[in-house]
Amino acid sequence: MPASQSVLNYDVFVAPEKPFVAPPPAVGDAPAWDPTTSTLIFGARDAVLVDPLMTVPEASALADWVALHDRNLTTIYITHGHGDHYLGLPVLLDRFPDARPVAAPRTARHMRERDTQALDNSLRTMFPGQIADTTPPPEPLESPEFQLEGSAIQIIETGHTDTVDTTSVHVPDLGLIVSGDVAYNHCHMYVGDTTADGRADWIAALDQLAELDPDAVVTGHKDPTQGNPPSVLAESRGYLEYYGQLREANLPSQELFDAMVRRYPDWVSRQQFLILGLG
Ligand SMILES: [Zn+2]
Repeated sequence: MPASQSVLNYDVFVAPEKPFVAPPPAVGDAPAWDPTTSTLIFGARDAVLVDPLMTVPEASALADWVALHDRNLTTIYITHGHGDHYLGLPVLLDRFPDARPVAAPRTARHMRERDTQALDNSLRTMFPGQIADTTPPPEPLESPEFQLEGSAIQIIETGHTDTVDTTSVHVPDLGLIVSGDVAYNHCHMYVGDTTADGRADWIAALDQLAELDPDAVVTGHKDPTQGNPPSVLAESRGYLEYYGQLREANLPSQELFDAMVRRYPDWVSRQQFLILGLG
């Protein structure tokens, strides 16, 4: 190890499940967003934050938590173009104005698209008064790798998973993957709006991450009582495969929902929007 290289560490903030405004669902729990993570990767002086969350209250709590680590926040990285992971950005930038918001070029482009902005606005409707009106666009990263105190932070393009142009973060020196929504941890997955082809792409992305043989995987959504084991990659793959079997069997919505909950009785967020889709 070069003398200039310091030892990295990481810490995970989990925003708890939060209720949102929606008509009563036909199945499952009362409407609430699944618990969402933000990960701070830090050295002796500097830090990188992965995904600045969504609502002003949770992003404010996140900013306080980041400040407790007493590091210089240089970078805020956004894994994918779903607003639950980045609409809190203006709150973080207000507190840490020197931090540079970045995303992979394809993700940054996806975030600027009309459909993405429409989804952001529907989140503002679901969480009235809780989400900033505008979010500055992240800068596209020039390279899929950057340095934190001499250690590599690698961006893994995972392509089409729960949306298009998604990424995960790999920190080889920590054996760490911050997966974004490529993997979930004991939390029902956002499969309701997927197709068979989309699920095949998603499974390929999980295999791509498994090939990195990580020691820890922090998922974008998780049961807060769980750790961050790499077994979440295989579990997420199994969830997608089982869901795909049920979809191919053309189960009615209610039965499909019940079968997933029966198969995963301990997983959090028994949400209609996750299992059956937002539309
Ligand atoms: Zn998400």
